[in-house]
Amino acid sequence: MDFDTIVIGSGFGGSVTACRLTEAGDRVLVLERGRRWDRITYPSVSGKDWLWDQHKPETSNGWIDLRVFPHIAVAQGAAVGGGSMIYANISAVPPPSVFAGGWPPEITYQDLAPHYATVGKVMNVQQVPDNQWTPRMHLVQDAATAIGAGDRFRKLDLAVTFDSAFDTSQSGYNHSVPHQNAQGVDQGTCVHCGNCDIGCPVDAKNTLDRNYLALAEAKGAEVRPLHLVTGIEQDGSGWRVHFDHLADNQRQPGSVTAHRVVVAAGTLNSTELLLRCRDVLGTLPNISQHLGYGWSSNGDFLTPALYSNRKPEPSRGPTITCAIDFLDRSRDGQSFWIQDGGVPNLLADLAAAGQANHPALDWIRNALLDRSPLSGLMPWFAQGVDASNGRLRLRRRFEIVGAWELTLDWDVDRSRGVIDAIVSTHEALSHATGGTPLVPPTWTLAKYLITPHPLGGCGMGTGSENAVVDHRGEVFGYPNLFVLDGAIVPEAVGVNPSRTIAALAERAVHIMTTEAG
Ligand SMILES: Cc1cc2nc3c(=O)[nH]c(=O)nc-3n(C[C@H](O)[C@H](O)[C@H](O)COP(=O)(O)OP(=O)(O)OC[C@H]3O[C@@H](n4cnc5c(N)ncnc54)[C@H](O)[C@@H]3O)c2cc1C
Ligand code: SF4
Repeated sequence: MDFDTIVIGSGFGGSVTACRLTEAGDRVLVLERGRRWDRITYPSVSGKDWLWDQHKPETSNGWIDLRVFPHIAVAQGAAVGGGSMIYANISAVPPPSVFAGGWPPEITYQDLAPHYATVGKVMNVQQVPDNQWTPRMHLVQDAATAIGAGDRFRKLDLAVTFDSAFDTSQSGYNHSVPHQNAQGVDQGTCVHCGNCDIGCPVDAKNTLDRNYLALAEAKGAEVRPLHLVTGIEQDGSGWRVHFDHLADNQRQPGSVTAHRVVVAAGTLNSTELLLRCRDVLGTLPNISQHLGYGWSSNGDFLTPALYSNRKPEPSRGPTITCAIDFLDRSRDGQSFWIQDGGVPNLLADLAAAGQANHPALDWIRNALLDRSPLSGLMPWFAQGVDASNGRLRLRRRFEIVGAWELTLDWDVDRSRGVIDAIVSTHEALSHATGGTPLVPPTWTLAKYLITPHPLGGCGMGTGSENAVVDHRGEVFGYPNLFVLDGAIVPEAVGVNPSRTIAALAERAVHIMTTEAG
C-alpha cells in the first residue's frame, strides 16, 4: 500500500482527520480537488477564478462550487482548506437538545463536548472584542431588545484573530498586527474590512490551512491539490483511489492505494462519489440503500432590510458576529437563530487590489465604504432545524441519455414552518428598529432557497437498514472505509455546522486511533 490512509478532501472533516491520523503515526495522503490559495491569488484580488465548474474542472477550478438544483441552490468551497477559505468564521456549538433524537446512541452532547472544546482551541476561536462592536452588532442587540428578546442576544465564537488594541475608527489593512499562530504559521489580526467570505487580505481568518492542515503537513502528511477523486475500489485488503490530476487544462488520470480511506469531500461530493461507486462503477455495490437520503439545508434564510434612520454598514467588520437565540423553540414552536449577515464591498476591494498595505489605497477603500450605497442595508440571516428530508441521487443529464449527474429532490413543505418563523422574526426585528424588510421573491413567489450549510446524505445510524455509516463514520459493510464530513450529520443542527463536523471527526479519529492502539 502506498499510504496508511488516504483522505479525500481537505475541509473540516478532512483536515481534522489528516492532522490526527498523522499525529498518530499514519502515512497520510490528502487528495484535494481545489487549489491552494493565498492573499495574493484570491479571486477577490486577481479578479478571476471565482467558480468551480463540475463539467470542466480542468479549466474552471475556482474556489466556489455553486450547484443549482430545481428547488434549492447549494454553495460550497473547492480549495485546500475546504469551506473554511470562504466561510464566515462562525464556530458554533449547538444546544444539547440537537442530540436528543435522530443520532446514534453513542453520540451525545456530553460525549462531543471535549471535542468541541479541542476544535475551538486549535482554531483559536474568539469573539469580537467589546471595544470593536460593529454597527450591525448594535442593531441586532437593539432589535432583540425591541421585540422583548434582549436576553437572547449572543456574541458568537469566530475563527478570527483579533487585536484587543485595534481601534475601528482607524480601519485599514496596515493596522493588522503580524504574528505567528500556535501552529507556527504567519497570520495578521482583524482590521474589520468585511471580506471574510472572499478571502481575508491580512490573514486574520484562522482557516484550516493555517491550523489543522498546517499541523498535518508539518508532521508529514502529503497534500495534493488539484486532485479530483473519481472512484474508490477494493484492492486486496485495502483500497485503490482513482483520481484525475487537473493540470495544464487537462485531466491526467492516476490512482493510489492505502489501508484506510476517509471520504471527506463535503456533503454533496461525498454522497455523489459513493453513489457513483455503488450505482455506476459498481465498485461498492453493498452500500446502504439509505445513501442520499436525509439531506438538510440546515434551515438557512436571508432577508435584506433597508434602513434610512441608521447605517448597519454590512461591509464593516467580520461577516457574521452575533445571534439572537430561539433554538429553544420558544418562538412559533420552531428551533432557529437569527444572525447579522455581511456583504463584502467589491468596489472598495478592487480599489485596493494587490496593494493590501498601501495607505493611499486604504484611504480610497475607506472613502468608498463610507459612501457605499450598501451602508443602509442589513442582511438579516438565520439558520434553523428543517425537516432534513432531501434526497441526493444520480440521474442521466438528458433523462435517459447523457452523463450521470447529481440531483437533489427537495420538498420544502415540511420545512415551511421554520422558514416562515424565521421570515416573520426578520420582519419583526426590522420593523422594531425602523427598517423595511424585503423578503426575497425567490421565497415569496417560488419557495426557492439557497444554502451554504448542506448536511446529510451519508447519515450516521445503527445499521445499514437506517443509515450509511456508524457513529465513527465507518461505512456499513466496508471496514476501513469512512465518511467524515457534513454528509454524516443525520439531521439539521440549526446553527452554523463547521464546528460540529470538525468535532465529529475529532471524536471518530480518537476512537480509531485508541482502538488501533
Ligand atoms: C459562503 C459560505 C459561508 C459559510 N460560513 C460558515 C460559517 O460561518 N460557519 C460555519 O460553521 N459554516 C459556514 N459555512 C459552511 C461550511 O463551510 C461547511 O459546513 C463546511 O465547510 C463543511 O465541511 P466539510 O468537511 O463537510 O466539507 P468542505 O469544507 O466543503 O470540504 C470538502 C473538500 O473536499 C473537496 N472535494 C470535493 N470533492 C472532491 C473530490 N471528488 N476529490 C477531491 N476533493 C474533493 C472540496 O474541494 C473541499 O475542499 C459556510 C459556507 C459557505 C459556502
Ligand atoms: S473582517 Fe476583514 S480582516 Fe477581519 S477576518 Fe474578515 S476579512 Fe479578515
